Amino acid sequence: MKCPRCESEKVNLLTKAPVDDAWEVYICETCTLSWRNTEGPNITDPEKYDKRFKLNPAEFKELDQIPPIPELKK
Ligand SMILES: [Zn+2]
Repeated sequence: MKCPRCESEKVNLLTKAPVDDAWEVYICETCTLSWRNTEGPNITDPEKYDKRFKLNPAEFKELDQIPPIPELKK
C-alpha cells in the first residue's frame, strides 16, 4: 500500500473499527497523512488523489508549512 499524498510505502495501520472491522485507518509515516480505507479512490488511491495536494517526500525538508511529525504512540 502507498500513501495517496506522497506515495511513500511507509504506511501503518493506525486503528480499526472497534466492532466489526468495518473500516481501518492508515497513517503515512512520511507525511503523517491519515485516511480511512472506506473513503473513495480520490482519497485512497495515489493515482486519483488531487494533484494539488500531493507532496513529494524529497521536498519535505524545504517546506516550512509541514508540521513536525509527532512521535507515534505504541
Ligand atoms: Zn504520505
